[in-house]
Amino acid sequence: MAFEGLSERLQNAMAKLRKKGKISEADVKEMMREVRLALLEADVNFKVVKDFVKTVSDRAVGAEVLESLSPAQQVIKIVNEELTALMGGEQSQIAVAPKSPTVIMMVGLQGAGKTTTAGKLALLLKKKQNRKPLLVAADIYRPAAIQQLETLGKQLDIPVFSLGDQVSPVEIAKQAIQKAKDEHLDYVLIDTAGRLHIDETLMTELRDVKEVSNPSEIFLVVDAMTGQDAVTVADSFNEQLDVTGVILTKLDGDTRGGAALSIRAVTGKPIKFTGQGEKLEDLEPFYPDRMASRILGMGDMLTLIEKAQQDFDEKKAAEMTQKLKENSFDFNDFIEQMDQLQNMGPLEDILKMIPGMSNAPGLDQMKIDPKDMGRMKAIVLSMTPQERENPDMLSQSRRRRIARGSARPIAEVNRMIKQFNESKKMMSKMNKGNFEGMDGLFGN
Ligand code: GDP
Repeated sequence: MAFEGLSERLQNAMAKLRKKGKISEADVKEMMREVRLALLEADVNFKVVKDFVKTVSDRAVGAEVLESLSPAQQVIKIVNEELTALMGGEQSQIAVAPKSPTVIMMVGLQGAGKTTTAGKLALLLKKKQNRKPLLVAADIYRPAAIQQLETLGKQLDIPVFSLGDQVSPVEIAKQAIQKAKDEHLDYVLIDTAGRLHIDETLMTELRDVKEVSNPSEIFLVVDAMTGQDAVTVADSFNEQLDVTGVILTKLDGDTRGGAALSIRAVTGKPIKFTGQGEKLEDLEPFYPDRMASRILGMGDMLTLIEKAQQDFDEKKAAEMTQKLKENSFDFNDFIEQMDQLQNMGPLEDILKMIPGMSNAPGLDQMKIDPKDMGRMKAIVLSMTPQERENPDMLSQSRRRRIARGSARPIAEVNRMIKQFNESKKMMSKMNKGNFEGMDGLFGN
């Protein structure tokens, strides 16, 4: 998980402050010293840290804060607000050209994730916004890049425009835009060439493509794992091309987070999306406020809810609620829920988005092993359809048969059935608006 170290250190600094009833200027200073170290250690740009600490300190030592009823809360609120501002305040939308098609240029160094991200963005436009994108292969120096984009296009069922590697990127861009106009496609995503380093030839070519294609967005794709280098790269690309936004990839890795926290302040350009994995669905809009809350351990319920909405079928969810009301939730539903949960990504990441959970003791050890889910599924699949619908009929002899069928120990079968009954009880309580007994959710 990205930001782990930073998050932990900041939360520790806040926790110390929370313990104090009254706060003095010295307390704020002490906390800010820790915040400063935490940010530097997370590889945040030196100057950015300096400015951040100054802004927060100035605001925090004001009389209205220190003399308020809950000074610690006030200070934490300020840190949260300034962290949000640092990353760009509001979430920014993708621009739309006044006349279709809207052109988006994807630029960045080789290996940053440009081609993959072009595919992800095309999928997002198609699936979430019902748009018709055209992917354009304009990286003619790396033949594999053209093929990579064509494969992505096939996978996503999105058209790819390519003229091979003998035609100039400028010409490719021109013809692609014409094709989009002719075929009423509304977004043109140009995957441009990358290099290992920034060089003048590349920049000249990109400027030429920019000139003929008049893009509404130039997204710079940078790899979060490269830390401060990502910030330097962003700064140079921006100087040359005046990019409109940054897409920070590989935020699923264990990056310390410096790039995410420095890019906006150094380049003045917002992070618009983040890449959260290698799968094509793994692209998320960047919300500075949610990211700040997540870093400070205040949870990110909004993303969690959206994730749930996106991955849970509404009709199925309504059916499930009905079943809970009628108390007819059975093992078939149980499996279905398990599948849906698995679709949402690693459980421990989901739990961390719940306020207060990110620091919960033992969460780190609580790796939810997909194998466990697989085993539970095997047990359920060894039940007859009648047994799955009527869990009450699971006598000891039936349980023994199921254990044999699924090649799991009988104790495990018993434990799973017990867990099922408990979750069912708990869910039906929650459904009635009674949230006591939530502990059971985590198996204690
Ligand atoms: P390009 O040279 O900039 O076009 O880079 P590619 O799109 O070929 O990506 C380089 C590698 O990074 C590929 O193996 C991608 O699967 C991987 N990658 C891209 N984005 C992400 C991301 O958000 N997370 C992870 N884990 N890998 C990514």
